Amino acid sequence: MSALPACRGRFAPSPTGPLHAGSLLAALGSWLVARQAGGQWLVRIEDIDPPRERPGAAADQLQTLARFGLLHDGTIEYQSRRDPLYQNALDRLLATGKAFTCHCSRSDLAAAGGIHRRCVARGERPDPAIRLRVPEHCEIAFDDAVCGPICQRVDVDVGDFVLRRADGLWAYQLAVVVDDAAQGITEVVRGADLLESTPRQVLLQQALGLPTPRYAHLPLLLDEKGRKLSKSSAALPVDAERPLETLALVWERLGQTPLPHAGSVGDFLRQALDRFRLDRVPASVQAPHAAAHNADSASHA
Ligand code: GLU
Repeated sequence: MSALPACRGRFAPSPTGPLHAGSLLAALGSWLVARQAGGQWLVRIEDIDPPRERPGAAADQLQTLARFGLLHDGTIEYQSRRDPLYQNALDRLLATGKAFTCHCSRSDLAAAGGIHRRCVARGERPDPAIRLRVPEHCEIAFDDAVCGPICQRVDVDVGDFVLRRADGLWAYQLAVVVDDAAQGITEVVRGADLLESTPRQVLLQQALGLPTPRYAHLPLLLDEKGRKLSKSSAALPVDAERPLETLALVWERLGQTPLPHAGSVGDFLRQALDRFRLDRVPASVQAPHAAAHNADSASHA
């Protein structure tokens, strides 16, 4: 087996619609970090939540990445084809008592603000979820390359979180941790909306005996009302016919100094690779607080 490169990044879109400028920012940022270090950059389609997905979205996203010159290494992985890996991880956690079957419904947990610390279900349900047992005083700390030191009390702020949902679908937290490790990812560079998920992912890595990659959470693009672009009506798909305009916009939002005029996408990316500085990327102010995303049917932020 050949040795893995020292640096391996990835872009992991959910195929819920066309790429918007915010996703392009994450794609470009993760590509720059990996390529600047002479590393590989992988693409993984996170298609484990069919109710949120749109037919044709993955193909459309991949085509957009190609139009923006963001070419990936290796084969594209699809999470929908990786059930055995997630099942294996879940079985290990169940076998060691680190995960448990839970019959609590969202309304059972409402009195505790949605945070699960012990089962309070009023009855058995045919479709229980599986949760990670989060120990008492579980403080997870890591250094984010953009946002600095991050620390979260996972037992207090999140509680025992879902690994397999009541509807039988895999939770994002489990799938992302298993895949990042299986693919040898060393740099996770993504939007700051996922900062609040990272302590859970670090905890899961520890529970499974997996390495923790380096993390860098990039600023979110917000619309004029301060809403995350992907969630707002202004989340127009990027115009793949005019990639240079979008590239210039996300480059600026990444806090980088303007590039001399670029005549083509290839030209832009070459200059960007020469000049990108991760230490110039502005930190997003976002407190990691996760209870709202911890319900048994929610897959991720
Ligand atoms: N699939 C997630 C999303 O599109 C990103 C997951 C990640 O980068 O960890 O929001």
